[in-house]
Amino acid sequence: MATAADFLVGKASPTVRGGAGAARILALKASLPRAADVIARHAAGIVEDGLVVDLGEGIGSGPWWRGLATLGALCGAVLAIGLNVPPIIGAVPPKRSPAVAEEARLLGITPLAEGSSMGRRLAPTTLARPLSEAPERPRVELDARVGSGGLQAALRRAGVGREDLDALGQLLAGVVNSSGLSPGTRLDIVLGRRESKSMPRPLQDLKFRAAFDLKVEVSRGPDGALRLKRIPIKVDETPLRVTGEVGRSLQRAARAAGLPANIINEYVRQMSHVLDFQRDMRGQNRFEIIVEHRRAETGETQMGQLLYAGLRKGKEDISLMRWGPRGKFFRANGESAERGLMRTPVVGARTSSGFGMRFHPILGYSRMHQGLDFAARTGTPVIASAAGTVVQAGWGGGYGNLVVIDHGRGLRTRYAHMHRIHVKKGQRVEQGVKVGEVGSTGLSTGPHLHYEVWQNGKAVDPRSAKFHSGSQLTGAELSRFRDRMAQLKRIQAAG
Ligand SMILES: [Zn+2]
Repeated sequence: MATAADFLVGKASPTVRGGAGAARILALKASLPRAADVIARHAAGIVEDGLVVDLGEGIGSGPWWRGLATLGALCGAVLAIGLNVPPIIGAVPPKRSPAVAEEARLLGITPLAEGSSMGRRLAPTTLARPLSEAPERPRVELDARVGSGGLQAALRRAGVGREDLDALGQLLAGVVNSSGLSPGTRLDIVLGRRESKSMPRPLQDLKFRAAFDLKVEVSRGPDGALRLKRIPIKVDETPLRVTGEVGRSLQRAARAAGLPANIINEYVRQMSHVLDFQRDMRGQNRFEIIVEHRRAETGETQMGQLLYAGLRKGKEDISLMRWGPRGKFFRANGESAERGLMRTPVVGARTSSGFGMRFHPILGYSRMHQGLDFAARTGTPVIASAAGTVVQAGWGGGYGNLVVIDHGRGLRTRYAHMHRIHVKKGQRVEQGVKVGEVGSTGLSTGPHLHYEVWQNGKAVDPRSAKFHSGSQLTGAELSRFRDRMAQLKRIQAAG
């Protein structure tokens, strides 16, 4: 039961009572022995003197009433004090005014992303002395590109002086064909300090790619002279081999395989010499293309010319390879792809009349002879001088029995005065196929073949060398050709 004394000894232990309470206080206040002793003794005295009344006993007696009044007074005092406990003040920073906040932002080192200005801009004081002119940078690093004007123009534009240009010209003369640098070539230029503003800055350093396999570095030595350093770049020259199914469009398939248009066009051009494009270039047939390919150790690649053109079409495969100084294509058997016209479309015949003006024995006057005459016995086979399509086969008036073959690319051959015709209009013929027999039909004085070559609608001399480009590789050259082709075909296909 609570007593008035309990309230005297403190709120901390309201259950402390009598002597036991005093003893605990003694223990608790061990650090302050004297004061604790006094209080404890006093409290004990109060209890013994009857000052502390047990309100459970002697109810209504004088001491009880005194005790009750004391308790009431003490409670009142505690309540009066306890309700007015001032709030505890913690360390709350004062709110900053906008001016103070801005000052803190200026002086603080904060990330730029958070809006730091890294300091305050101040007006110059008397300690700051203005310069008469802005100081020059000790070196200028430039990244220029070669334009259409070549290396010299690009350097001049970058600010390289005439003397340095002349020195460079001499240094690079044997190394770089200055006009041969491809436009877009990057130039790393470093210009040094100049003595006065009226002079151009001296060239300190110049680096560029002079060729696919060569880097060039020009730098100024300690003696002031420019020195050239060649840095070769390793290049892998393994050709690139690409194969694929022709499908519906060779062009599309080859483009999808990563080949440039000029290579595909060359492939088509060479292939059209040896096959019927419409018929063979489709479906499941696989094209095979090998091109010159250079891969620099720095990562750049360069595609060169077509080396090999192939078509796998089941039974018969076609292989063409570039060979010789003129870059002509040859078949695997050494026969040139571009066979041209045969010199004599009649087996074992001799030329009896040439191309040009001549007196016509039947007409009786001079006129242009538009072809060659080959004298031969009637019935001697006449053969197609090149592969093509028969566009005319039948009576041709003064020409007698006439066959006209179109070889494409504006070239046609005409075979006249024939005894018999062995082909039909629209038929496709290969080189050397029999088209008829020598005869003497039409305006003719005896059995012979009148043979004409027309180019782009004009009769031309059949003996002209340009129609006989066909040739055959033989002997040692043929075996070298075959070795090279086998070597090319061993290259692993890309992709
Ligand atoms: Zn003739």
